[in-house]
Amino acid sequence: MKNNFGNFLFTLLLLLLSNLGWSQSNAIKIKFIGNCGLYLTDGTTNIYTDFPYKSGAYNYMEYDASELDSIRENSIFIFTHRHADHYSKKQLKTALKSKGGKKYGSWNIAELEALGTHLPEFSIQTFKTKHRFSISHYSYLITWHGKKIFLSGDTETAETIRHQKGLEWAFVPPWVIIDAMRKDIKIDTKMFGVYHLYPNQKINNDSPEKIKIMDTQGEVIVIPY
Ligand SMILES: [Zn+2]
Repeated sequence: MKNNFGNFLFTLLLLLLSNLGWSQSNAIKIKFIGNCGLYLTDGTTNIYTDFPYKSGAYNYMEYDASELDSIRENSIFIFTHRHADHYSKKQLKTALKSKGGKKYGSWNIAELEALGTHLPEFSIQTFKTKHRFSISHYSYLITWHGKKIFLSGDTETAETIRHQKGLEWAFVPPWVIIDAMRKDIKIDTKMFGVYHLYPNQKINNDSPEKIKIMDTQGEVIVIPY
């Protein structure tokens, strides 16, 4: 009788452990590559945003060639615009040729918005946003497994992001944060990822529990769902 109870506890423990393991695998992982370049995956679908770009363009971040080699097969590449610090026509062509996949941006916005019809638990909203010297810049709201991730790209102001509700992560360049502070705009997000910094650019962060300064290439953010 005592032994049976022991077995029962053991089984219960295994069940709990396996459930824990299961819930841990239910996560979106976001790797910071450089500039606005991110690699997002839920373990099934692989998405790159503003990557590949031209390494070191306009004195922004360089990245190791191994980043190009490690691009996953049949990935989705989403671009905010086609400036060299966000987009490399050459590297992208090479990646698409050797690994397959599809590129999205201002040239096929309708197709990008329809992406959610093929991908489970995924939708993307697009916003035409302002960026100097670019006539077609877009910011994106990805809703994936119920989590809202906002990608500002290179846009200049907080005018679009201020209307978003219930964001999990807001990826913003530092000037959008400054614009929001100046205008006293509250951005409804759990976490900020401040990206598009120069190499070695240091930003003071007095609330690391709310703001992550994206200055460490290769760092991974985990969003459990
Ligand atoms: Zn840029």
